[in-house]
Formats: sequence, C-alpha cells, structure tokens
Amino acid sequence: MGGKFIKVKCNDCENEQVIFNKADSVIGCLICGRTLAEPTGGKANIKTQILEVLE
Ligand SMILES: [Zn+2]
Repeated sequence: MGGKFIKVKCNDCENEQVIFNKADSVIGCLICGRTLAEPTGGKANIKTQILEVLE
C-alpha cells in the first residue's frame, strides 16, 4: 500500500522538510545531515519532530 508524505522539522537546525514515511533507506536532513527517519522494513521510523501529515 502507499505511504504518506510527512512534514517534519529537524531537531537540530529547524529545517522543515517533507519526507515519505515508507523509506527504504535512511533519510537525512538536507541542511545539517541529521537522521530524520530510519527504515524499519516498510514504515519509516521518524526520529524527529512531525509537524504535519500530508494527505
Ligand atoms: Zn537539520
């Protein structure tokens, strides 16, 4: 099934970024490189602040 896009905020640099919650690789902050989400065999484990889930 399809995943969702989630708007997150980096806990370190406060960059806001839209990520997909079905990642198959680690998603890093585009600004500082902090890990924002890790794959867990399907659904991504979000490691930072979630601002909004986009439909
Ligand atoms: Zn950052």
